[in-house]
Amino acid sequence: MNAPGIDAHDRNAPIFAPDASRLNDAEAELIARARRFGARVLAPRAAQHDREATFPIENFRDMHPEGLLAICIPRGDGGLGADFRTYCLAAAELGRYCGATALSWNMHVCSTLWTGALSDDLDMTPQERETHRARRGRHYRRIVEDGAVYSQPFSEGGAAAAGTVAFGTEAKPVEGGFLVTGKKIFASLSGAADYYGVLCTERAEGADASRRNTLYLAVSAKAPGVQVVGDWDPLGMRGTVSRTLLFKDVFVPEDEMLMPRGVYFQAATRWPHMFLTLSPTYMGLAQAAYDFTVAYLRGEVPGTPPVKRRMFPTKQIAVAEMRVTLEQTKALWFQAVTEARANPTKEQVLRAYAAQHTVMENANALAAKAIRTCGGQAMLKSLPLERIYRDSRCGSLMLPWTAEICIDRLGKETLYESGETDE
Ligand SMILES: Cc1cc2nc3c(=O)[nH]c(=O)nc-3n(C[C@H](O)[C@H](O)[C@H](O)COP(=O)(O)OP(=O)(O)OC[C@H]3O[C@@H](n4cnc5c(N)ncnc54)[C@H](O)[C@@H]3O)c2cc1C
Repeated sequence: MNAPGIDAHDRNAPIFAPDASRLNDAEAELIARARRFGARVLAPRAAQHDREATFPIENFRDMHPEGLLAICIPRGDGGLGADFRTYCLAAAELGRYCGATALSWNMHVCSTLWTGALSDDLDMTPQERETHRARRGRHYRRIVEDGAVYSQPFSEGGAAAAGTVAFGTEAKPVEGGFLVTGKKIFASLSGAADYYGVLCTERAEGADASRRNTLYLAVSAKAPGVQVVGDWDPLGMRGTVSRTLLFKDVFVPEDEMLMPRGVYFQAATRWPHMFLTLSPTYMGLAQAAYDFTVAYLRGEVPGTPPVKRRMFPTKQIAVAEMRVTLEQTKALWFQAVTEARANPTKEQVLRAYAAQHTVMENANALAAKAIRTCGGQAMLKSLPLERIYRDSRCGSLMLPWTAEICIDRLGKETLYESGETDE
């Protein structure tokens, strides 16, 4: 029996209840829209894309009329105008139903969040800002009017994605634009996106490569010289279809600059929470593992016999421990996404690393515990739990804030102030 005032367990209740989280009506409505979409559209398709490692392009086509492709595009440009936190909470709701779609959606949405709300916080000359507004307007119209899908390939298999050296993919300035040459690995949405939001280094003949010269360019998937190669048969997040992209002297017009020169470097240093945007998907997977366990032990998972297992004390203890882990994860993550802003304090940045590490590690820990607690019948491929387990394993590997890098930075930056050495 439920205690007075406690509602019966609802597997589709919001992860963050609007009143408890002090969300305003507009935020709550947008997040609820994502949740309804996830339950209705993503959940029924997730198993097939996982099994076949195919990209769920129809999910993205269905997002267009819902406005979800334009969630972070400013209202003045025809989008839903979500800020950083609202986007993160909406993405967590999608992650509950299909991790691969939520993660790929993040790559797409970042192309609008970084060029929109985030860029508005950064320094530009009035002329640069005017040009940026005109350029991003073109890119927003493609999304709002035509349902264009963008991806975000920055990984190259070297140290660049961790942010320590310049990207090896280079943009050579030429008349009217750039010639882009290079290789991106693990490029989610490869072969499905209409535009690849490529991070590369602008480098004139004979000049040195520098991270300060990072460019963020929209490269049309149809441009001559763009190639998708290699196969994709991974452990988890199989629907992201993150194959390898090759660029060979791809001409990219200057108007396809998604940020003015120097602004990506500025963003990476002054708006570091931009790298926390991979975590919402995994927050959703953590919730999904917990929800599955509760429903399964109550004998309420569709497609399984109505056998209850909740009466065993060991199950009750396991669920209690899962709840403690989930609440700890939610609390820290909510705090971190709430305080994301330009020029955060050192404490806020350290908390963001801690939140990223906690979500990525705990999502998989919760999924592992869910399998152990629910038992053998729960990990059959006819049920979502084993997919959640495999998908959640990928979170702590994702650059630039892998779980290891978060720990590395937390230790170093806690013990050393900027510029301090032991000499
Ligand atoms: C499902 C999935 C989808 C992805 N989608 C995309 C995408 O759309 N776009 C994209 O750009 N990338 C994407 N990635 C790539 C991802 O962010 C990583 O780049 C990729 O997993 C790197 O693998 P690697 O083995 O080359 O890592 P390596 O660079 O070899 O690193 C291996 C490990 O060493 C550690 N390490 C690396 N550098 C440092 C350092 N400087 N200090 C301390 N420790 C370090 C890290 O813990 C890291 O996990 C995706 C990855 C996955 C799993």
